[in-house]
Amino acid sequence: MLLSVKKLEKRFGKRTVLKGVDFSVDQGEVVVIIGPSGSGKTTLLRNLNFLENADAGTMNFKDRQIDLAHPKKDDVHFVRRHSAMVFQNYNLFKNKTAQENIAEGLIYGQGMDKRQALTIASDELKSLGLAAQANHYPSQLSGGQQQRIGIARATVLKPDVILFDEPTSALDPELVGTVLDDMRRLAQAGQTMVVVTHQMSFAKNVASRIVFFDDGQIVESGSPDQVFNHPREERTRQFLGALA
Ligand code: ADP
Repeated sequence: MLLSVKKLEKRFGKRTVLKGVDFSVDQGEVVVIIGPSGSGKTTLLRNLNFLENADAGTMNFKDRQIDLAHPKKDDVHFVRRHSAMVFQNYNLFKNKTAQENIAEGLIYGQGMDKRQALTIASDELKSLGLAAQANHYPSQLSGGQQQRIGIARATVLKPDVILFDEPTSALDPELVGTVLDDMRRLAQAGQTMVVVTHQMSFAKNVASRIVFFDDGQIVESGSPDQVFNHPREERTRQFLGALA
């Protein structure tokens, strides 16, 4: 197992948002998390990367055991060094070009020589067909292009796992496909991914496993065929029925 959390709990004030979540990801898996808005999916993802501090729970990541409520600084650095996150609103540096945004993590996160990092970023832009945008600032790019840069920035780090937090939900519908295509290619290349999304066709076609999440808990988890076509739980049936 690459990553697992056990009994993860998270409260905001008096409200318990994660109610003892057991969740794991194997190397090479594409786990897609679906479920109603407000059920805690984003909070779960943010806890996996220590963007939120859990109230209880343990994590095992690359054989390192971590107390989620009291992580050591070194544990937080370790997890961040070997994982990457793609955000709903891209979170690009506004005052840096596309190429510089992609190079940023290599230079400041991994200590790579600046010239080498910029070359890697340039090659990545070429392979994405975005070479013409290398020197554009985020404000000069479409939302779809910005998110593709956001994904490239994560990919060049060669992380063990990439966490995607609703990567297409801020995009105009006609731009969603280009971002999902990049994600599909990454999945086919064997990248381990955890994806929170409302894009059900992506979930059906690309996921190796679906996790249905509701009210701070995993309700059920299984292959796309099992969860979409033969859901075990009534709550899953209701959620999928409401989408149809
Ligand atoms: P989902 O991703 O499934 O839509 P979220 O994880 O974003 O759900 O949110 C779960 C619940 O936690 C929601 O009720 C949301 O309002 C609440 N929440 C999320 N972040 C915060 C925060 N920083 N402070 C207070 N409440 C929050």
